[in-house]
Amino acid sequence: MHLRDAWVEVDLSAISRNIRALKALLAPGVGFMAVVKADAYGHGAEAVTRAALSAGADRIGVATTKEAIALRAAGVNVPIQLLAQPPQSAIDELLQHSIIPAVTTSGFASSLASMADARGIEALCHLKVDTGMNRIGVRHDEAPLFAREIADLPGLRIEGVFTHFATADVPGDWDFGRQVDRFEETVAGIRNEGVDPGIVHAANSPATILSPRTHQSMVRCGLAMYGMYPCEAARDLVELTPAMSVKARITLKKRINIGDGVSYGLTWRAAEPSDLVTLPLGYADGVHRAASNAMEVLIGGERCQQVGRVCMDQLMVVLPRGNSAKAGDEAVLVGRQGAEQIEMDELAQAAGTINYELACAFGMRLSRRIA
Ligand SMILES: *Cc1c(COP(=O)(O)O)cnc(C)c1O
Repeated sequence: MHLRDAWVEVDLSAISRNIRALKALLAPGVGFMAVVKADAYGHGAEAVTRAALSAGADRIGVATTKEAIALRAAGVNVPIQLLAQPPQSAIDELLQHSIIPAVTTSGFASSLASMADARGIEALCHLKVDTGMNRIGVRHDEAPLFAREIADLPGLRIEGVFTHFATADVPGDWDFGRQVDRFEETVAGIRNEGVDPGIVHAANSPATILSPRTHQSMVRCGLAMYGMYPCEAARDLVELTPAMSVKARITLKKRINIGDGVSYGLTWRAAEPSDLVTLPLGYADGVHRAASNAMEVLIGGERCQQVGRVCMDQLMVVLPRGNSAKAGDEAVLVGRQGAEQIEMDELAQAAGTINYELACAFGMRLSRRIA
């Protein structure tokens, strides 16, 4: 049902193409985890998961137990794993829905093991190693003994060992190299303790594209799968197609005079008589207010300046002289129109943030048209 003239379009064939392009960078036998946390970075987790699995993804990564349960409820039956350790109160649900958690504390590991054992099953987990990002994980130099300790618990099996990079998007970065070294040493240390690390994985999108040495047994890709580049250097190495477009229809067109101001605070004033149009989306839809007066919108195949402060639900755009767009015409905030294109990256720069954050934000209130 058509209730609103502002929406997100998601092109699932672009996602399939991107996955094939990323898999072409991998040696045979290297697995591919499709990361669909945060409703697939705003693209819609269920549809993206189906597209990813048919394009050759092996398993699914999410951030929260609730995200994993929603995919199970939708009938997804491949391995689903959490990229972090949830609270112990989530263990019942993990076991009930066969969700594989990351493990970072012995308290969680022993509860998971004993609750699984009590049900007569073996729970799988992936041991998260902190090699330098200092977010979550067992310290790299403590991980081998930790692995030994939890490997002995009845009811629990370490299915994999992983780490996460802080600077994989910076080519040649020293700290990145140190994390890679530490991770390789840690995995060797775990083997030395007589524990099989199973699936060894580290690479996010930037490492997958820039650093084949990090591929190990599996890569974990989010951003690149959606057709966005994690850094400029990645553009030369793989061809990706953006899957998300953000569009709206002009709700109002009006003529304003020299000196007339626009939107809250009247932060922009017309330097000449101008045609101004209103679009029915704003910062509650993911158009960051910080991009006010700094972003462009495609209308009539042309780049047009957004003017005045972005409001919660609306924003205004001034038409270049000669642009005859009218109410009901389509405007593109992210995506293509005619020969012009605005990438998520461009809008992110105007807003002082990154493409990751904007894609998530566009997924929150706008309705989605999946093609
Ligand atoms: C989000 C996340 C990823 C995916 O990162 P991208 O840069 O979007 O590919 C991979 N691993 C972990 C642990 C994550 O949290």
